[in-house]
Amino acid sequence: MTTVTAAPTTEPLTHYRQLTDLAQHAFDTAITQAHNACDADTYNAAMHNAGLAIGVVLAPGAEIAPCACIDCYCDAIFDTATDGLIVIETTDYGVQRFQCADCADGHPVTPED
Ligand SMILES: [Zn+2]
Ligand SMILES: [Zn+2]
Repeated sequence: MTTVTAAPTTEPLTHYRQLTDLAQHAFDTAITQAHNACDADTYNAAMHNAGLAIGVVLAPGAEIAPCACIDCYCDAIFDTATDGLIVIETTDYGVQRFQCADCADGHPVTPED
């Protein structure tokens, strides 16, 4: 009898450069709105829109982020609940900046205090 263990999902949802111009614009706008949100409702609505922009309907409370790697030109967009991410920066209120699983694996950054 074999036990099948679900592999951790580290695949990005999409890549920014694979999006159409319109989708890139919608994604950028939504992420900016999330960054600037000053309450949870606005933030969640903006996140939802960011998901729609890349063709994903996010579960309530789910967040996505573009890879914020500073060592390469990575364009991965991923669910922030993905295993293996590194948090580069945490803001008091708003979007955290992450390195995607591939970057975290290949050239991890040391998070700032
Ligand atoms: Zn990356
Ligand atoms: Zn990288």
